[in-house]
Amino acid sequence: MPVLFIGHGSPMNMVLSNGFTKSLADLGASLPRPDAIMVISAHWLTRGSYVTCTDRPRMIYDFYGFPEELYRVKYEPRGAPACAERVTALGDGAVRCDRAWGLDHASYGVLGHMFPSADIPVFEMSLDYSFADWHPKPIRYHYELGTRLRALREMGVLVIGSGNMVHNLRLADPDMDAPPVEWAVEADEEMRAHLVAGEHRSLIEYPSAGKWGSRAAHTLDHYLPMIYAIALQEEGEKIRFTHEGLQNGSISMRGFRIG
Ligand code: ZN
Repeated sequence: MPVLFIGHGSPMNMVLSNGFTKSLADLGASLPRPDAIMVISAHWLTRGSYVTCTDRPRMIYDFYGFPEELYRVKYEPRGAPACAERVTALGDGAVRCDRAWGLDHASYGVLGHMFPSADIPVFEMSLDYSFADWHPKPIRYHYELGTRLRALREMGVLVIGSGNMVHNLRLADPDMDAPPVEWAVEADEEMRAHLVAGEHRSLIEYPSAGKWGSRAAHTLDHYLPMIYAIALQEEGEKIRFTHEGLQNGSISMRGFRIG
């Protein structure tokens, strides 16, 4: 099964029709049909890593101050508890089952366009955002945890990292169609080059050592889902970009497919 990273951007994309949402529909139609989908969500931050192990994941409207129609969006696939439990086994103690969370907009915001009939089981994986000495778990920790999940691909599970590679809400323009700002274009381009060259180490180090790292990945929540996606890349596998461009002036909507 291929592996995806999707830059999901503003929740408004759920109800819009634009180049980005069209790319999601095309992507969904081009993929082999998965047995289940696991979304690694930028919007589920936990102490320790979790997967949703419920058969009927509830919808979580985890965004505020948006138009009413966004709160009426429904996307209610079944869960995939057996697959989720397999992830806890692969994680060997690092990933546990959760039965309280459901699907947040990092999942249904993109899956609504990719698989509108919601007939493929979906579960989420959280990001371990526990702090030690005032720093979240190192990026390398997430990368290494990701490499342990490679068996999911053979099991027919479509793994989707859902975040944004360049994402700094403090610097984002409220206008979704604002012209791209120079630093964000440059950061996105540097990350693109590292992806094409398979330079995982440069991507692991980019937030601390890259030219625009501290600004582009000001917080790591939207960056880390991409790290899990590249951790699932096998030796020699090529990356294909499924979408590129910026929304809100500085949010990279770049997405890619491995395999
Ligand atoms: Zn987001």
